[in-house]
Amino acid sequence: MGIIFELTSAQEAEAKQWLEEHACPARELMEKKRRIPALGEQVRFVFIPTFLGIIAVVECACGAHHLLTDLSDL
Ligand SMILES: [Zn+2]
Repeated sequence: MGIIFELTSAQEAEAKQWLEEHACPARELMEKKRRIPALGEQVRFVFIPTFLGIIAVVECACGAHHLLTDLSDL
């Protein structure tokens, strides 16, 4: 049996919105080169199991990251 980590649909939408809106040097560079990658090339999701619950984080290729779990929900 494995462990499956899931984003809620609200967290998925929040991740997409954050990726489009954060000031991103990596995206600027790719736009200058007219090479827009698929979302999967730019982003990774990190799940951190804690004793309070799973904390989900989205990380961009530029090094920026954004917390998807509302800590008050844990
Ligand atoms: Zn970025």
